[in-house]
Amino acid sequence: AAPLVVAVSTSISAKQGLLIRNRTNFEGARNLNAVVFDKTGTLTKGEFGVTEIVPVEGESKADILMLAASLEAHSEHPIAAGIVAHSKDQEITLKKVADFTSITGKGIEGKVDGKQINVVSPGYIKSNGLNYDTDAFNKMSEEGKTVVFVLVDDRLVGMIALADIVRETAKLAIAALKEDGIHSIMLTGDNQKVANWVAKQLEIDEVYAEVLPDDKANQVKDIRNKGWRVAMTGDGVNDAPALATADLGIAIGAGTDVAMETADVVLVKSNPKDVVSIINLSRKTYSKMV
Ligand code: ADP
Ligand code: MG
Repeated sequence: AAPLVVAVSTSISAKQGLLIRNRTNFEGARNLNAVVFDKTGTLTKGEFGVTEIVPVEGESKADILMLAASLEAHSEHPIAAGIVAHSKDQEITLKKVADFTSITGKGIEGKVDGKQINVVSPGYIKSNGLNYDTDAFNKMSEEGKTVVFVLVDDRLVGMIALADIVRETAKLAIAALKEDGIHSIMLTGDNQKVANWVAKQLEIDEVYAEVLPDDKANQVKDIRNKGWRVAMTGDGVNDAPALATADLGIAIGAGTDVAMETADVVLVKSNPKDVVSIINLSRKTYSKMV
């Protein structure tokens, strides 16, 4: 009877948009007691809109946006899409970029008109000891906005604040996990204040912020070493090692190919609440087996 139950669960899961790629780890899902979520693109939609441009000195907002968008046109990050879309709204003409590179988990760099341009995270600014308007930064971050910094030849010229949209379904997912006695954790590369703001909206139990991509997998390993049986849910290239490290790796369907290829389960509908469905389906399927 056992294989029949498994076969039935496969067709149920396919109908619900749960793509099971690794059956052994799916079977183990009934024993999970913690779920880790990436923030951007997983708990949030990853659809950023620019809300503020704050010049540091003489630069115009239009120039700051032009420089940032020229570089971001070469990046695949959700932040990049937000900045480029805003430059289009403002009918700003972008410039050619030379020597474009991304600095993993920290931002991007390249040359425009022979000048070195960087669009980077608060962590990058702090580790390089650059001064910035901390009051303006703190205010925007505490409102849950992601702030990036624009540099010209290593001089800070402005800040760009972007707002993402928290998924309503993420809130339902966290609540349902709580009801099942499952611990919820956020793991993000974004700033601590932004992470705290999103965590508060979602009533998530624990938060790890400003985690560099290479450290996401280590963080999951540490959580496992504390005794948790953990699922990792993510969408990005930077989440793939963490997906592979968890007891169950879950990819958001709208995410990157790398995440989907690494995951044990893909949530085709990109709905975080399906994490709960997976755990319940595993419990139902394998409790019927001896
Ligand atoms: P997350 O875990 O939220 O998906 P990432 O590890 O991709 O975050 O990025 C961490 C931080 O690095 C971002 O919050 C941002 O500050 C900065 N960053 C990454 N890529 C870019 C980019 N293309 N433009 C500007 N900033 C970026
Ligand atoms: Mg992400």
